Formats: sequence, structure tokens, C-alpha cells
Amino acid sequence: MPIVPIATTHTATATDLLELDFACAHCGARARASVLTTSYGVAVGAPLAIGAEERGTEARARALEGLTREGAALAGLARCPKCRARDAKAVRSAWLSIAPLAAFLGFLVGAPLSIFGILIRISPWLLGSAIALPVAALYAWRKVHGRCAQADRLVDMTETEARAATID
Ligand SMILES: [Zn+2]
Repeated sequence: MPIVPIATTHTATATDLLELDFACAHCGARARASVLTTSYGVAVGAPLAIGAEERGTEARARALEGLTREGAALAGLARCPKCRARDAKAVRSAWLSIAPLAAFLGFLVGAPLSIFGILIRISPWLLGSAIALPVAALYAWRKVHGRCAQADRLVDMTETEARAATID
């Protein structure tokens, strides 16, 4: 609990089982994706209870708004039920969405080392980036893989048209 209240953060969580259409980019299989989706909404308001009700409503509205986007992102990352492939485009956008944070983290680690590089007369750029790049890459890689694993866990695929085709 903060001693001096500066602002109050209101949070809300929305959870829903979304039913989405899935089409595989590799083999063209179609499926119905049941996605157990959770979305978070945040609204920052005035300290204490000033306007708390409005901010609470705002946080809930944001959580609900995010559900569709999050559900679609997870369904896009899940493996195709037929060929087990993952959509490269969805994986690429997962990488891109984590890139700014990964770069920032790399900078946080790399910048002090650059200064250290000046002190020990090693190129600050070389030393900084020799540390920053692997840190950023490892962080992003772990995040993307975690996201893919989450998609596999939360998305349940039921083949639709592809199943009818197999019977024929
Ligand atoms: Zn497929």
C-alpha cells in the first residue's frame, strides 16, 4: 500500500471461451477453434476513491475489448490440427510485438557495459552489443515460445471441412 497516494490503478480480468474459425495457412485445413481467452484491462485514476467507479468501468470495458484480439492471436498461433504446422505469419507478429521490450531490456543491460568498455579501453559498442544482443534475443525467444505453448494449451481445434473430405 503506497504511503503517498499518487494514482490508483484499476484492473479487470475478462475470461471467455471463444469460438473462432481457423484456416491453416499451410495445408488449408479448416477447423473450429475453441479458445479459452483471458484479457486484462487497466485504467489509471486519481488517488483514493475519486472517480473509482468510472475507472473501474473503464478497466472492465478494456478487458472485454481485448478478448476478441487476444482470442484471435492465440488461435492464430496454435498448431493446425491436421498438419501440425504453425502459421509463420502469426509467429512473426509475436516476435515483432515482443521486439521493443526485448530491445529495451538489451539496452538496460548493454548500456552500463558500454561505459565499462570505455574504462577498460574496449570498444563500448562492441562490448555493449555483445551482451545486449544475446540478452534481447534470448528474452524474445523465451517469450515467443511461451506464447506458442500457451496457444497450444488454450486452443482446442475441431476439424470441420477437412473431416468431411477424409470420408469421401
Ligand atoms: Zn495445416
